[in-house]
Amino acid sequence: MENLEALHEQIRACRACPLGFSRTQAVPGAGNAQAKIMIVGEAPGKNEDLQGVPFVGAAGQLLNKLLISVGLSREDVYITNTIKCRPPENRDPLPNEVEACSGYLDTQVEMIKPAIILLLGRHSLQRFLPGRETISKMHGRLVIEGDRAYVPLYHPAAALYNGGLLETLEEDFRRVKGYIEQMEAKND
Ligand code: URA
Repeated sequence: MENLEALHEQIRACRACPLGFSRTQAVPGAGNAQAKIMIVGEAPGKNEDLQGVPFVGAAGQLLNKLLISVGLSREDVYITNTIKCRPPENRDPLPNEVEACSGYLDTQVEMIKPAIILLLGRHSLQRFLPGRETISKMHGRLVIEGDRAYVPLYHPAAALYNGGLLETLEEDFRRVKGYIEQMEAKND
């Protein structure tokens, strides 16, 4: 697979699991193909399913604010989800759905080659770092695994209605900024 847009096209045509038949459209991913930061959420919601773009609803608005708060914008990052099609009624992704999308997500990581991957919520955490501690223990930590660096974070949707979690998420984003600065200093 040569380029990211060709991969996105393949995802848009995918019917590898039942969600391919219930969705309005697939949501492959969006942002900067050369991004140092990749963000992986859970699954498209209603707005994403209608627009074909990740994180455009209320959780997406909060994610934009969090990025801006540490001097980043959507143009600096590449954003996708653990699964590319909306589950009915926004239920949790099923193991067969995560598996059906697994090759797409691996290829996205290989193509983007991000310096750091932000894992939003427990499904994304479980996808990349299976069998670890829960998100409440792991959030905000830099996890180096092989040649990859991850930071598990609470999902912005969870912080929308919980002020305590929002403060934690804001603090964790400031930590992410510190991790990125450390990595850039190392590469200088
Ligand atoms: N929540 C997600 O996990 N992903 C989206 O794209 C939107 C909301």
